[in-house]
Amino acid sequence: MLPSAGEFVAAVLRLSVWLVLLTALFVPLERWFGARHAPRPRRELLHNLAYYAMSSLVPIVLLSIPAALLAVIAQHIVPTALTDMVQSLPVAGRIALVFVVGEIGFYWGHRLSHELPWLWRFHAVHHSTEHMHFLANTRTHPVDMVITRLFGLVPLYLLGLAGPSVAGSGAPALLLVTGTLWGFFIHANLRWRLGPLEWLVATPAFHHWHHSRHEHINRNYAATLPMLDRLFGTHYLPQHWPAEYGTDTPQAASLSGQLLNPLLPQQR
Ligand SMILES: [Zn+2]
Ligand SMILES: [Zn+2]
Repeated sequence: MLPSAGEFVAAVLRLSVWLVLLTALFVPLERWFGARHAPRPRRELLHNLAYYAMSSLVPIVLLSIPAALLAVIAQHIVPTALTDMVQSLPVAGRIALVFVVGEIGFYWGHRLSHELPWLWRFHAVHHSTEHMHFLANTRTHPVDMVITRLFGLVPLYLLGLAGPSVAGSGAPALLLVTGTLWGFFIHANLRWRLGPLEWLVATPAFHHWHHSRHEHINRNYAATLPMLDRLFGTHYLPQHWPAEYGTDTPQAASLSGQLLNPLLPQQR
């Protein structure tokens, strides 16, 4: 079901508060612990704010219909024995399952966004950032955003871990909120190494290598669990940091160009 005007206004207010909190947290941390680089053009800041608004509001609108459809389809095709088994798990077990299954879905959605040219043209927008910082997290084309989120959500619906009811939608909502918050951290310009924790969770160093301009852009696809990259053979995490960030895929200078070009037929 589409969100009402009231829900939309509430979402805008929530976003504004989050932006203030995130800025208050990350701007000083990045100043103290980040790599030094030339000041970013003001236009990039404006673009990032626009992407921030889009990345938070667009999925509310664009995901609500496919998510409701998925829930109905899953109810018809998934054996009740499977959903009953999942429902009988303790709450902690279900939350852990949501987390791991959602991450595996996201991993493959992200990996295919690099490996399939028609998906890469949308995902390249995310890789266009040349200096890592927390707001780079939101620099994502709406199509890319919807596709990778659906990859995370579909297995949850198929396992009966998400449903059409308010209670049933709690699991994916939890996944989206924690995933998004962690996303700001791993994009932040923080030159921290976290020792053994780097085995357990994605860190700025882990994700910064994913944004390296050349050799290692096809590594470290996981959003939170680096174990998945170890499992699927795409892990890369040396002790040093990438020399250069960005992508060689050309990007339009204007926001409208960045949004529209991937939708146009490719020029050869
Ligand atoms: Zn990527
Ligand atoms: Zn990223």
